[in-house]
Amino acid sequence: MPHRSVIKTRVGIVGAGPAGLMLSHLLAGAGIENIVLEKRSHETIRTTHRAGILEHGSVRMLTESAVGGRVLTHGYRHDGIDLRFNGVSHRIDFQDLVGESVWLYPQNEVFVDLAAARARDGGDVRYSVTDTEVLDLTSPVPKIRFTDAAGAEHEVHCDILVGADGSQGITKWAIPAEHRKDNFIEYPFAWFGILTEAPPSSDELIYANSEHGFALISQRNDHVQRMYFQSSPDEDAESWSDEQIWHELQRRVDGPDGFELKRGPIFERTVLKFRSYVCEPMRYGNLFLAGDAGHTVPPTGAKGLNLALADVKVLFEAIDSRYNAGSGALLDAYSDTALQRVWRAQNFSYWMTNMLHRRQDANPFEHKRALGELSAVVSSRHGRAYLAEAYTGWTHG
Ligand SMILES: Cc1cc2nc3c(=O)[nH]c(=O)nc-3n(C[C@H](O)[C@H](O)[C@H](O)COP(=O)(O)OP(=O)(O)OC[C@H]3O[C@@H](n4cnc5c(N)ncnc54)[C@H](O)[C@@H]3O)c2cc1C
Repeated sequence: MPHRSVIKTRVGIVGAGPAGLMLSHLLAGAGIENIVLEKRSHETIRTTHRAGILEHGSVRMLTESAVGGRVLTHGYRHDGIDLRFNGVSHRIDFQDLVGESVWLYPQNEVFVDLAAARARDGGDVRYSVTDTEVLDLTSPVPKIRFTDAAGAEHEVHCDILVGADGSQGITKWAIPAEHRKDNFIEYPFAWFGILTEAPPSSDELIYANSEHGFALISQRNDHVQRMYFQSSPDEDAESWSDEQIWHELQRRVDGPDGFELKRGPIFERTVLKFRSYVCEPMRYGNLFLAGDAGHTVPPTGAKGLNLALADVKVLFEAIDSRYNAGSGALLDAYSDTALQRVWRAQNFSYWMTNMLHRRQDANPFEHKRALGELSAVVSSRHGRAYLAEAYTGWTHG
C-alpha cells in the first residue's frame, strides 16, 4: 500500500479553470485556506482557445478583486452586436438599450491573470495531477485523492469540496444517481470554428442567420480573428481546405451591402458540439458544483465562462459567511440561488441558438418563423433590450 501524505485545508477545489481559480483567489483574500488540483499543465490551459466574451459583471469581478486590470487595457470593449439576416445587419446597441457593455478578452488571458494572481499571493495550485478521486462527500471531512506531477500520492482532507472540473470532470458523477437529476438536450448541429491571422472584418461580433446556416464573425485582437459556421456534429475539420472554409463563411454573410470577410491563413480549426445540461441540485453533502461541472450551455449566448464566474460569486459569499460570520444559511441556499441564474442563461442560450441556426430537417415554415422572430426582435426596442440585457449579463444579485 503506497504512502499517501495528508493535506489538511478548509476548501478543496478540483479544477483550475476560471471557476476553480477565481474561487481560490477570492477565498484566499478572505483568509480561507484552500488548495486547487488541476489535471492539465499550466501551458496546456494557457494555449487552449475557448471563450472570448466577458459580461460587465465578470469584468468587475476581475478588476475589483485585485486579479488585475489587463482585461481593461488588453481587452476590447464592445457596445453592441450585429444580428444579420436576409443579408442585412441590425445593430443591437447595448449602451443605448441597457447602458452596459461586454469585453472581448480571451479565456486563456483570464486564466493567465488568475494563475498569476494565485502565484503572486502564494496560492496552492497543483497542475498536472492524475488519478483524482473524491470520497466521503456526506461526511464532515470530504476527501480528494490525487497523484502529483512528481508521482507522489496525497489525500486532501477538507470541510468543503468544490467540483469546478468542467463538463468532462469527475465530481458530479460522484453524486449517486438517485440524488442527481441530469437535465440534458443535444442539438443536431455543431460549430466549425477557426482562428485566422487576419485583420478584423468588423469592430463587433456579427451573428448571422442565412439560408446556408448560421455564422459568427468574432475577433481575438487586431491580428487574429475567431469565426464559426454551423456544421454537422460529425464534420471532419481536417478534410476542409482553407478556400472551402472561406467560401462557406462568406456565403453566410453575403448581402446587398457587399460585406466581405478579411481573409488570412487559418491556423486552428475545431468542431464544437452543442449541448445544454444542468445537474440538479448543484450540491451533495459537502460537495458543491460550480461552472461547467454543474451545467453546460451552447456557446451562442456567450454564457459559459460568465456563468462559471457567477456561480463562484454566490459560492464564495456562502463559504465566507460560514467561516467569517458563522452562518451556513447561504451555503444551504447555494444550489437554489445559483440555479436561478443558470436556468435564465440556459433559456437565453437555447433561444439564441434556435433563432439563429437552421435545422437540416426543418421545413420552410420553420425557417420563415425564425426570420419572423428575428424581425420581431430587431424592430422592437423591448425585443432588442431583452437581448441586450441578457447578453451583457443580468446584474449579479
Ligand atoms: C470553443 C469554445 C468557445 C466558447 N465560447 C464561450 C464564450 O464566448 N463565452 C463564454 O462565456 N463561454 C464560452 N465557452 C464556454 C467556457 O469555455 C466554459 O464555460 C468555461 O471554461 C467554464 O469554466 P469552468 O472553470 O467551469 O470549467 P473549465 O474551464 O472547463 O475548467 C475545468 C478544469 O478542470 C480540470 N479537470 C477536469 N477533470 C479533472 C480532474 N479529474 N482532476 C483535476 N482537474 C480536472 C480541467 O482540465 C479544466 O482545466 C466556450 C467553450 C468552448 C469550448
